Amino acid sequence: MSGNTWPGGRRHAMSQSDHEKWNASNYPGTLQLCDICDSPTGRCEDDSLYADDEGEVGPLCEVCWTYETRVRAMEADGMTRSDAQALIDGEDIGKIGR
Ligand SMILES: [Zn+2]
Repeated sequence: MSGNTWPGGRRHAMSQSDHEKWNASNYPGTLQLCDICDSPTGRCEDDSLYADDEGEVGPLCEVCWTYETRVRAMEADGMTRSDAQALIDGEDIGKIGR
């Protein structure tokens, strides 16, 4: 069983230098990157998305924020984190027909 779960089931397999080039061309300056997947959040500090009220989980992109808040909601309902993630991952896999 692999311990790594990517939000939305998307894996990022970029080499380090490709990643830097991509970052440089996509995020000149101060754009915010997602704390989970390193994608641009499309937001700035004023409207950052955090999955928790304390502002410790984030900033997140909308994909990860949706994912993380769903996991947290399920955890609040008494589900374990890994069960919640498996459930969401299962939905995503069904959606893209794998
Ligand atoms: Zn993200």
